[in-house]
Amino acid sequence: LFVSFEGVDGVGKTTQVERLHAYLEAQGRTVVVTREPGGTALGKAIRQLLLHGVDGGAVDIAPRAEALLFAADRAQHVAETIRPALERGEVVITDRYLDSSLAYQAGGRELTPEEIRSLSMWATNNLLPDRTYLLDMDPALSHHRLEHAEDRMESAGDDFQSRTRQAFLDLAAAEPNRFRVIDASQSIEAVWAAIESDIKELA
Ligand code: C5P
Ligand code: MG
Repeated sequence: LFVSFEGVDGVGKTTQVERLHAYLEAQGRTVVVTREPGGTALGKAIRQLLLHGVDGGAVDIAPRAEALLFAADRAQHVAETIRPALERGEVVITDRYLDSSLAYQAGGRELTPEEIRSLSMWATNNLLPDRTYLLDMDPALSHHRLEHAEDRMESAGDDFQSRTRQAFLDLAAAEPNRFRVIDASQSIEAVWAAIESDIKELA
């Protein structure tokens, strides 16, 4: 079982990943929890480049180069972590996967979704999650991001965050079998309840 969590910064993905992890382990499943970018040693080096730039931000990373760095991170993540775990029959939960690239690199920046999708499908050798939870909320309400932009990505403007949110919603609408959209402005407990009732049918 391969599950991804998606959504803009500060909607509570990490908290819900941990809830699902604990829940599935209590059911006796072996669970691998991971993230993008940065789920592997190579990925951590790539994440550092992506989030903090090169030469203290002096180098402009071109949109295609940025997309390739995210794809390289994902390729290594699938080859080293995700696919082997799935082959062992384990559950994999990832905090972000290809939909983040579709929403951020295609939705917010200048590349087309088709380009990013085919890049990502090549990078992963066509591995898609069985289920994707989109935690959706107005980015203006995601207090985490407003209070402290942690990196190059998170300091992008509200307009960018709003376009990214809409890109996620469009992706979910196009693949209703894979996605579940959850209102992340609810309490942590209410968000978890929605995930729990859904995963019961899958796991
Ligand atoms: O979720 P996390 O904080 O690890 O993501 C790091 C940053 O990278 C976030 O600010 C997110 O907006 C950005 N990102 C991106 N494209 C991706 C994945 C993450 O722009 N494919
Ligand atoms: Mg973040």
